[in-house]
Amino acid sequence: MIVSVASGKGGTGKTTVAVNLALSLNNVQLVDCDVEEPNAHLFLNLKILMEKVAMIPIPEIDESLCDYCGTCREVCAYNAIAVFPGDEKKRSGGVLIFPHLCHACGGCALLCPRKAIHEVGKPIGVIQTGVSGDMLFAHGKLNIGEIMSPPLIRQVKQYIDRSRTVIIDAPPGTSCPVIGSVKGSDFCVLVTEPTPFGLHDLVLAVEVLDKMRISSGVVINRCDIGDSGVRDFCRHRHIPILMEIPFDEEIAYLYSNGIPFVTEKKHYRRQFKDMIGSIEAAAEREPA
Ligand code: SF4
Ligand code: SF4
Repeated sequence: MIVSVASGKGGTGKTTVAVNLALSLNNVQLVDCDVEEPNAHLFLNLKILMEKVAMIPIPEIDESLCDYCGTCREVCAYNAIAVFPGDEKKRSGGVLIFPHLCHACGGCALLCPRKAIHEVGKPIGVIQTGVSGDMLFAHGKLNIGEIMSPPLIRQVKQYIDRSRTVIIDAPPGTSCPVIGSVKGSDFCVLVTEPTPFGLHDLVLAVEVLDKMRISSGVVINRCDIGDSGVRDFCRHRHIPILMEIPFDEEIAYLYSNGIPFVTEKKHYRRQFKDMIGSIEAAAEREPA
């Protein structure tokens, strides 16, 4: 079973829930897909077993073959290619590739009529896998200045071990990196806080998951502050509230020292284990 942990809003405690949930289960793998800012590893006593550079294929032009026809520029939906026709007889044109805009779709190489485009590997980050006790772990780290996180997320997910319960720590928000992370999950846990901001972003996240037909449930963090908006919304949409975590200074203290709170507050382990039971039941139902 693959369970992703996401949150429309950043700073709600998504990674805290993902790490503590994973640490409460047996035969589990934690996969941190928040490649722009991976931090799950900070809470684990990790032994890294494998590290590799993640590459994407980007086009390179052989201008001795190119006639500056402009097909590649027209094909590219991301404006990653500029073609300057120049003087046809003097062959004075040029083709410019903007690697940071390229989504590595391969369309230009496929459709160049003169086969003047080949692909070269461009490093975008690193992937690491390892173990923490008997938990398997994988994450990706996007290079600084790199904007293309979905290809790295896809490559990190290739290390998913489906023989285990897989917990994916997804990036915050509701855009492409989140969709790439939760895609293929059997269930998504949405971590929120009971405030108008939390509710606003929770509604967006639920809409995304509905479109992806992924069942979801909610964990309310800092449940004893704020208002009733999140609970009212969940009741109205028949979204299960899987767990409520109070605003607890000790949890905050443990977090700031890189200590997962289930290691010190052991009764939460039972709650996370029970939560997986609820998730298995809810995942069998159709999404709202
Ligand atoms: S499609 Fe091929 S031949 Fe045409 S401008 Fe691009 S690289 Fe050159
Ligand atoms: S590989 Fe795709 S995104 Fe990249 S330059 Fe070619 S057409 Fe554009």
